[in-house]
Amino acid sequence: MLIDIHTHSLAPFPDQIRMRCLDPTAELDPVCEQLKQAKGEVYSLGIHPWKADSWTPLQVHQQQALWAHSAVKMIGEIGLDSRQGGPFLQQVSIFEAQLEMASSLRKPVVVHAVGTTEVLLSLKKKYPDVPAWILHGFRGKQEAAIQWLRHGFYLSFGRHYNEEALKKCPLNRLFLETDTAEMDLYAHYVSVAALLGCSPEALEDAVTSNYNRLILS
Ligand SMILES: [Zn+2]
Repeated sequence: MLIDIHTHSLAPFPDQIRMRCLDPTAELDPVCEQLKQAKGEVYSLGIHPWKADSWTPLQVHQQQALWAHSAVKMIGEIGLDSRQGGPFLQQVSIFEAQLEMASSLRKPVVVHAVGTTEVLLSLKKKYPDVPAWILHGFRGKQEAAIQWLRHGFYLSFGRHYNEEALKKCPLNRLFLETDTAEMDLYAHYVSVAALLGCSPEALEDAVTSNYNRLILS
């Protein structure tokens, strides 16, 4: 089964697993309704760093039941962005509130990270109980990929990526995603498999076993 580890689309895709990203910032009611009606769909839920200034850590903890919902398999997208969004320290405090939940709920995080390598590496050390950190939409060069991989991160590649960086990512640390792009997921698997010199089926098997290892059913 093809897996898309990060999408903002709520459209149905039969015979595929799409990790649909919900942001509770917009309005809580539609998010609660979506989760209530989930029939086998899987979700990641998180406050994007660009929206961090509309929350306090206390409000995040008050909504813990949302993140604890059984259809919410991952927490995200969450993270840090030094170039956009509100004050950086506010971003850090909302990110940490969600990392605390990821630790206690034992759910992996899908991370938006722009210009924040040092802080992110120190937070990863500070929250060792977060079961996995997936850097989504990875576009960095191979040196950056090697560094993140060395620190235990998973990398997820969307429409735009650096080919040399992708080739450095072992199959057991790799995910694919569509994010906000309207793109054919299977075609994405085919082109990445061609780059890696394996069959689309072998790539699909590898991503599926990563998914099964990280995502609690
Ligand atoms: Zn996204």
